Amino acid sequence: GGLSQAGEGKSLLDEGNNTTFIAVTSGKGGVGKSTVSVNLAVSLARLGKKVGIIDADIYGFSVPDMMGIEERPQVINERIHPVDRFGVKVISMGFFVEGNAPVIWRGPMLGKMLNQFFSEVEWGELDYLILDLPPGTGDVALDIHTMLPHSKEIIVSTPHATAAFVAARAGAMAIKTHHEILGIVENMAYFESKLTGEKEYVFGQGGGDRLVEELKTDLLGRIPLGQPDLREDVFAPSVYEETHPIGKIYMDISKK
Ligand code: ADP
Ligand code: MG
Repeated sequence: GGLSQAGEGKSLLDEGNNTTFIAVTSGKGGVGKSTVSVNLAVSLARLGKKVGIIDADIYGFSVPDMMGIEERPQVINERIHPVDRFGVKVISMGFFVEGNAPVIWRGPMLGKMLNQFFSEVEWGELDYLILDLPPGTGDVALDIHTMLPHSKEIIVSTPHATAAFVAARAGAMAIKTHHEILGIVENMAYFESKLTGEKEYVFGQGGGDRLVEELKTDLLGRIPLGQPDLREDVFAPSVYEETHPIGKIYMDISKK
């Protein structure tokens, strides 16, 4: 797609903006939605795309920690300037709360906050905006559907039957609200023994395939269990290097 300007006071919601919005959803928490969001954003940036990410998980924001971000966005002329990390422009709910205080806003407040992220952040040109949504089909997910009628979705699930079952509900909501599902990412799909190269299916098998069938979409990739090698120069506990076997899988997914 073409490039769009959301600079100089422009909003990502302005007419004529061509940014592709990709909401990452899951139904269940703890399946790796934030990990997948962060790594897809970083690998799209590695492909030369202009990428932003909004950590919209109000109650469980984790993107700053995962990307190793300690700084806060600057506010210049009443415009919020996102933090740049690995070539990705980052905005998180976590930037706007004191310490680790629980966030207890009600639905309408959350929607307002998100709207501000779209219109009061100086994103500049963006090809892709990745949205890391809270689990479930609650207020924020509904707000996103209303605010961004053209956003596309990636659904993350583990291979476990329960996770897939709940993810199917998130997918059903996407279909009901006419949002295109780009595909399924099956996370924690297996554990590969370094000694034997054999795969162990720790969380079972079939969740991803079942979703593909049920939602009539594609399997974008399977991510095994494994941690990034922590670099000393950039402390980012959840960002895989391009050369890491899992980093390569994320690059393949981003190309798709
Ligand atoms: P969610 O955003 O869906 O709640 P997270 O991305 O926060 O899930 O992941 C939950 C936990 O699992 C985190 O501690 C994360 O580091 C870990 N994790 C996610 N994916 C993997 C994986 N493929 N291998 C190992 N640990 C993972
Ligand atoms: Mg999360």
